[in-house]
Amino acid sequence: MRQLRPLASLLSLRFPLHSISARAFASTPIANRERRDDGFIHPEMTDNIVNFYAGQPPLNRLSFQRQDASLLNAYLPTAKFLVFDLGKVLCPTKRYNEIQYLTHAQVAPLLKEGFEDPPKDAKDAKVRQAARPVGASAVVFLGLDERGYEQENEGNVERPKGLPYFAIDASGTGFAGASKNSAVRAAESDKGEGKDEVTGSWGDPRATGSALDAFDAGVFATARALTDWNGRNRHCAACGAKTYSLWGGWKRACTTALEDPSKCFSNTGLHNFAYPRTDPVTIMGVLDPAGDRMLLGRQRAWPKGFYSCLAGFIEPGESFEDAVRREVFEEAGVKVGPVRYSSSQPWPFPANIMVGCYARAESDEIRLDLDNELEDAQWFPRSVVARLFEKEGSTHFSVKDYSAIDRALTAGEEDGCAVHGDLASRLTKIPPETAIAGKLIRQWAPGPHALDLVSRL
Ligand SMILES: [Zn+2]
Repeated sequence: MRQLRPLASLLSLRFPLHSISARAFASTPIANRERRDDGFIHPEMTDNIVNFYAGQPPLNRLSFQRQDASLLNAYLPTAKFLVFDLGKVLCPTKRYNEIQYLTHAQVAPLLKEGFEDPPKDAKDAKVRQAARPVGASAVVFLGLDERGYEQENEGNVERPKGLPYFAIDASGTGFAGASKNSAVRAAESDKGEGKDEVTGSWGDPRATGSALDAFDAGVFATARALTDWNGRNRHCAACGAKTYSLWGGWKRACTTALEDPSKCFSNTGLHNFAYPRTDPVTIMGVLDPAGDRMLLGRQRAWPKGFYSCLAGFIEPGESFEDAVRREVFEEAGVKVGPVRYSSSQPWPFPANIMVGCYARAESDEIRLDLDNELEDAQWFPRSVVARLFEKEGSTHFSVKDYSAIDRALTAGEEDGCAVHGDLASRLTKIPPETAIAGKLIRQWAPGPHALDLVSRL
C-alpha cells in the first residue's frame, strides 16, 4: 500500500482524476517515447496505461488500519456508504449511471454495533480483530478520499485526514425494499419527513459500473469485489462451519476459531481462503505477423455483430505468456510467438484481474473446433475496426444487452446469430473503452497515432 501513496497525494492536490494519467505519461522519459514505424506495437504503448476501474487508487486504502476496530468505528459516523444487494449497487432512483451513497444514519439498521473491539489482552483477541457478529452483514472499509483535505505534514502517513468510504452487503436483510415505492419515499423526504429514509434503485453492476465517472468506478470496483467475496464465502472451505467477517471486511475466519480452534485446520497456518481472491485472466490483442490485422472472436451469446479480443483464465502452473499461447491456440487454432504485457484491469464481475497483452501470431489459419468456445473468429484489418470508433451505438452496452447475454448463457443457447457476409458487415460492435479489450483495440487500430488514445480516462 505505501508505495501507492505518492499517487494518492497527487489526488489530494485536486487534479481531476482523468488528468492524472496524462500527467503520468507526460513524465515518461523521452528515450522511452521514440516512435517506431514498423507497424507493430510502439514501445510507449506499454507504459503508463490507466484502465477504467483501476489506475491511481481513488482512495488511500490504509490496509494497515483494518485490524483496528476503534479506528474503523470512529470513521463510521462521517463515512459514505455503498450498498449492494446480490451484487447490484444502489443508485439514485432510476438514475443508473450514479452511485447512491448513503449516510451513517441511513445504514444504521445494517451496521448495528459496527466492528468488534476486543480487549487487547483477551485470549482470542486475534481472531476477533475488527470483526462483525456471526451472521451480520459484512461491512468493508474501503479507505479515505484525501482530496480537499489539508494533511498536517507529509510524514503523517499513519493518520491521514480524509472522507471515509465503506461498502455494505445488504443481501437477504430486507434492506432491498429501498427499490420499492421509491417515488413515494422520495416525496416524503422532500417534505422533511423521514429524512433518513433510503430511496433508490438497484443498478445492474456491469451497466452502472461502466457508466460511472472514473473516481466512483474505482471505489465501486473494490466495493463490489469485496462484498461479493464476503457473500460467497459464508462457510469454511476446510470444514463447512459458518464463517464471520473480520479485519474490516478483508478477512473471513471459521467460527470454530471462536469456540474450539482444534476443530478446523484453517485455524492453523496460512490459508488463501481466508482472504479475498483475485483470479487472473489473460486478454490479448493478437496481431498478424505484419501487425495490420487483429484476431477478434465472438461467442454465441453475444449481441449480433459484436466481436472482442480472445481471453481466458490463467491456469495453475502457467505464466501470462503460456496462458496467452494456450488460449489462442485452443480457441482459434492460431499459433502465437512473442507475447508482450500491456496493462491490467481489475474486473469486479466478480473478482478478476484482466492481464492485457499483445501477441504476434506465427500462423493465420483459424480453426474453431478444438474447444468450440467461439462461434466465429476473424482477422480484422485496422480500417474495418477503426471505422467503429465514432459510430453511434457501436461500443455501448445497455442493461438490455447484458440481460440478453445472461438469458442466452442461462439457457445454454447454441444457435447464435448468423455469421456471414464480408468482414465489415460482420463487425458492427466492439467493446467500450471502459473494458480493457476496448483499450487494446483502440491502442492498435489507429496505427502511429495510437499514443493519443492511451490515457483517456
Ligand atoms: Zn473450518
